[in-house]
Amino acid sequence: MMTALWWIRRDMRLADNPALCAAVRAGDLIPVFIRDAIVEGLGAAPKWRMGLGLAHLRDQMKALGGDIVLRSGDPRKILVQLAQETGATSVYWSRLYDADSVARDTDVKSNLQAINIDAQSFAGHLLFEPWSVETKQGGFYKVYTPFWNTVKQRVIDGTLSIPELKFAPMPPSESLEDWHLGAAMKRGADVVIQHAHVGEDAAQQRLVQFIEDNIGHYKARRDFPAEPVCSGLSENLTYGEISPRQIWHAGQRAFEEGAAGAEHFLKELVWREFAYHLLFHRPDLPNENFRPHWGAFPWNTDATRHEVARWQRGQTGIKFVDAAMREMYVTGTMHNRARMIVASYLTKHLMTDWRIGRAWFEDCLIDWDPAANAMGWQWVAGCGPDAAPYFRIFNPDGQIEKFDKQGVYLDRWLAEGRLDPSDTALSFYDAVPKSWSLRVRDPDPKPIAPLSDGRLRALDAYSALPKSA
Ligand SMILES: Cc1cc2nc3c(=O)[nH]c(=O)nc-3n(C[C@H](O)[C@H](O)[C@H](O)COP(=O)(O)OP(=O)(O)OC[C@H]3O[C@@H](n4cnc5c(N)ncnc54)[C@H](O)[C@@H]3O)c2cc1C
Repeated sequence: MMTALWWIRRDMRLADNPALCAAVRAGDLIPVFIRDAIVEGLGAAPKWRMGLGLAHLRDQMKALGGDIVLRSGDPRKILVQLAQETGATSVYWSRLYDADSVARDTDVKSNLQAINIDAQSFAGHLLFEPWSVETKQGGFYKVYTPFWNTVKQRVIDGTLSIPELKFAPMPPSESLEDWHLGAAMKRGADVVIQHAHVGEDAAQQRLVQFIEDNIGHYKARRDFPAEPVCSGLSENLTYGEISPRQIWHAGQRAFEEGAAGAEHFLKELVWREFAYHLLFHRPDLPNENFRPHWGAFPWNTDATRHEVARWQRGQTGIKFVDAAMREMYVTGTMHNRARMIVASYLTKHLMTDWRIGRAWFEDCLIDWDPAANAMGWQWVAGCGPDAAPYFRIFNPDGQIEKFDKQGVYLDRWLAEGRLDPSDTALSFYDAVPKSWSLRVRDPDPKPIAPLSDGRLRALDAYSALPKSA
């Protein structure tokens, strides 16, 4: 019998995994995970969460009589060595689309093919491969609505069942515990873990619960941050603990059965696709203004400013912003509306370069996604494709009136001024580093500046920006 390596990256699942299925067909299986420069370069929270996902998947493998071989170093060399060491004749993996992964995977493929190994990558992270969607003129889409109109009628293949796994003898492995993937969480990982939903089973349960209880209210209530209406699946999608195809089909069935919010949910799932479409075609999306004339905008690029620290620590004195930043610190995720509000406040009221906010999210989010995060920041800042117009500056206080009138979200995350603060608000103080010197009975932080001043300053700067295509 032949031996096949399944190189695990962001596809930590057994169900609906084309690369895994192909590996199982090709031979006895050796699952492999490599701690390379890309894994090493992850922010604190996503790296820690990736470690939890990996431990969970390893336990799944062990329960099935196998394991995951762990190695550190450059996959360009390691996969060649492992193939030679184990006599594997094939190496399969699920594709990724950011520039560093694409460059690495291209080299890996040619190195393996040079020694006659069948090296293949498979779709699995997305519904539509980014190069498979084109405008009538043959370019890529820069606006979401025509992208959606192009893909919405496409037939998406059914999902694949979990294959029967037969393992080859495992070569030596490093120890996951020795990797200390959570070492950079210089804060309350024990707080954040209470909010994480790790692994394939947790992801499946989330999907079932969302379809049964919430999809019907999704369109009407998804913008209310205190309500548990959204799916929470971004955490699992980013590590591939569930396939987007399975979510799509569940949403489609709900749509056909007449669930009110189902189409809206499918559209949101396709925003994720759109983000990857943009990232693939513009690999510099996380770092460069999508619209180059924004290079002339006078962003403040000093990440060490006191105002930035106050934003990061949920101490701006603007209630919605502080509540949202604390939600992220405690749970590792943040409601979508809250993401838009904190990003708008940082880039517009505080005129801070969007890349500073992007980087902080990259360090704090357990659902960090290279495409959605970059697109989200550029969208809010105004410099991205199909971006919110710059003059649309969210008023965080007005947003409370619209989306948290009873103050439930604020009570959930803010302790100041409350006789009996909620457990979630208190847990923020357990999660933050001691060096921040924050205490529950600290007085309410005073606003950095009146919201109206920040708004006018931003609008002035925008009106001085040369208008260009
Ligand atoms: C500044 C900013 C940064 C963001 N950073 C990230 C990030 O790092 N990782 C991430 O997954 N999402 C990011 N988003 C998008 C969005 O906020 C999250 O996907 C969403 O809040 C996840 O919650 P959910 O799974 O409950 O979503 P649901 O509302 O249940 O939606 C289902 C799925 O659709 C996709 N989706 C929904 N909204 C968006 C969107 N606006 N853009 C792209 N995909 C979307 C997600 O995969 C999500 O899991 C960001 C948005 C902004 C404005």
